[in-house]
Amino acid sequence: MRANVWHGKRDLRIDNVPDPEILNPRDAIVKITSTAICGSDLHLYNGFVPTMEKGDIIGHEFMGEVVELGSEVKNLKIGDRVVVPFPIACGRCFFCEEQLYSVCENSNPNAWMAEKMWGHSPAGIFGYSHLTGGYAGGQAEYARVPFADVGPIKIPDGLSDEQVLFLSDILPTGYMAAEACDIKPGAVVAVWGCGPVGQFAIQSAYLLGAEQVIAIDRFPERLRMAREKSRAITLNYAELDVVGALKEMTGGRGPDACIDAVGLEAHGMGAAGAYDRVKQALGLETGRPIALREAIMACRNGGVVSIPGVYGGFLDKIPMGSIMNRSLTIRTGQTHVQRYMKPLLERIRNGEIDPTVIITHRMALDDAPRGFEMFANKEDECIKIVLKP
Ligand code: NAD
Ligand code: ZN
Ligand code: ZN
Repeated sequence: MRANVWHGKRDLRIDNVPDPEILNPRDAIVKITSTAICGSDLHLYNGFVPTMEKGDIIGHEFMGEVVELGSEVKNLKIGDRVVVPFPIACGRCFFCEEQLYSVCENSNPNAWMAEKMWGHSPAGIFGYSHLTGGYAGGQAEYARVPFADVGPIKIPDGLSDEQVLFLSDILPTGYMAAEACDIKPGAVVAVWGCGPVGQFAIQSAYLLGAEQVIAIDRFPERLRMAREKSRAITLNYAELDVVGALKEMTGGRGPDACIDAVGLEAHGMGAAGAYDRVKQALGLETGRPIALREAIMACRNGGVVSIPGVYGGFLDKIPMGSIMNRSLTIRTGQTHVQRYMKPLLERIRNGEIDPTVIITHRMALDDAPRGFEMFANKEDECIKIVLKP
C-alpha cells in the first residue's frame, strides 16, 4: 500500500510499504477513506518528538471501512464505516475503566521508553513515535487497529466523512479542553492558538455555557475564522501585550479559565521569544512554553489553566509561584477520545456542531508531503487539510 512515511526532520515521502495484517484477535484492518494532518504531526515533522525512526508511517486522525476482523471483535462487521480514536486503549484496565483512555496501561509495548522519560507510560498512539508504541499511523491506504472492539465508532448513514472525521482527535480535544474549564454562567474563557484545536475549544466553551471567549493568535485568517465561525473576540499577540489586554477586558481580574491550544512550538515576540528558541535549539528545554506562561499569568485567582497543547519533556521558567500562590488548577492530557465520540457524534447529528467549517484544503494522500509544508508554513491560509487515499 501507499503511506506517508517519516524519513527525518521535514522529510516525508509517499512510499510503498507492506499491507498491515491482523496480529491479534481484537484487531481490525481499516481501509482508509479520509485522514487529516494534525498540529501534533507538525511536532514530528519539525523533529521535536524523540524516538521517531526512518520508515515510520505517521497519521492519527483517520476513518474508513472495516475490511478484516480478528476473531474476538464482535461489535463490528466487514463493511462498517468507522472513525478511529487516536489513543489506543484496551477498554479493560484500571485506567480504561476510569475512562482515562489515553493513559491505558495495556497498549504501549514500549512502555519502558516512556517510563524513563515520564515516570510512567501513557497509552499507545497511532503514528506517533516509538515512545508511544511505534504503531503505524493512518496517513495510508490501510491501518491495523488494535482493540477494535473498544475504539472505533460506527458511523450512521447520511453523515459524510468530513462531518465525522474530526471525532478521531481534534473535536474531542477542543471539547475536553473546554470541559476542563468548569465553565459557569457568565464565564470568560481565553484560548491561545486559533488552529483547529483552538477553534473547537472556542466553540465547545460556548456550547458549555461561556459568556465570552477571547481567542489569541497572529495569523489574520485564523483570527478571522475564530471570529466568524467560532464567535470569539480576537486578540493579535503580535500587536499587543496579551496578559495586559486580557486584564483590561475583564475588569482587572483575568479570564476565569485559560486554554493553551498552542503547545511546544509556540512562537514568541522579541527577546522572550528568542530566549526559548535558543534554549530549545541547544536542547536545554524541549519546548517553548510561551503561550503557557501567558495563560498562567493571565488566569484569574482560583481559575483553571487547561492545556490541550502538546509538550514532550522539560520546560523552563514555568511560573510555579503564580500557580501555587493564586490557587490555580492545571488540567491537561492527551485526549480521552473514546469518552467523547458518541456524545459529540450526537451533537454533530443534531446540528449543534459543524466540524467541516475548519477545513480549508482537500488533497490526495500522494500530496501529503506538500500538504505538510503548506500547513507548517501557514501557506495559502491553510488551517486544516483532509487527505484522500
Ligand atoms: P496548529 O499548529 O494549527 O495551531 C497552533 C496555533 O497556535 C497556530 O495558529 C499558531 O499561530 C498559534 N500560536 C503560536 N504561538 C502562539 C502564541 N505565542 N500565542 C498564541 N497563539 C500562538 O495546531 P492544532 O492542530 O490546532 O493543535 C494545537 C496544539 O494542540 C498542538 O500542540 C497539538 O499537538 C495539540 N493537540 C493536542 C491533542 C491532545 O490530545 N491533547 C490533540 C490534538 C492536538
Ligand atoms: Zn492530533
Ligand atoms: Zn486500558
